[in-house]
Amino acid sequence: MIGALSTKQQFLLSKFLNALNEEWDIAGIEAALGRAREMAPGPELACAAIRAAVTVGNRTPAVIALPGPHWRAAPVTVRMPNVRSGERCTTCSHPKAMCRALYDDADHRFMSVAEARRRMLDDESQRVVTDGIRESMRARQSTRFETPVEES
Ligand SMILES: [Zn+2]
Repeated sequence: MIGALSTKQQFLLSKFLNALNEEWDIAGIEAALGRAREMAPGPELACAAIRAAVTVGNRTPAVIALPGPHWRAAPVTVRMPNVRSGERCTTCSHPKAMCRALYDDADHRFMSVAEARRRMLDDESQRVVTDGIRESMRARQSTRFETPVEES
């Protein structure tokens, strides 16, 4: 399990929460985070504290260490940045640089959606040509050509 916030993380989070809600002073936020420290792993506490800080009506940071709706994660719809098909990975949908950073060819090699589409079309046209050749060979086999008999 991921551990509780470190003292440094708690301080930096306090500064961030103060930036989100300037009515909450840093010392008060730090104290509240300290009281809430054992309530949840660090990342969950941080998310709950952020939600508490931006909720209208939460006048003091003391609310962080109390039960309430800020402990429930809201469903989120993630919007991917609009990436052109030549720059988007056909496997993971990430832009090229992010695909390489995340997977480094270990899980999969980057192939753009445009490239995959082009290859699929190539395979498709290859298949059409191959089928066409097979078809004409079949037609030729079913046609009997009689060898002309030479008259003597
Ligand atoms: Zn990828």
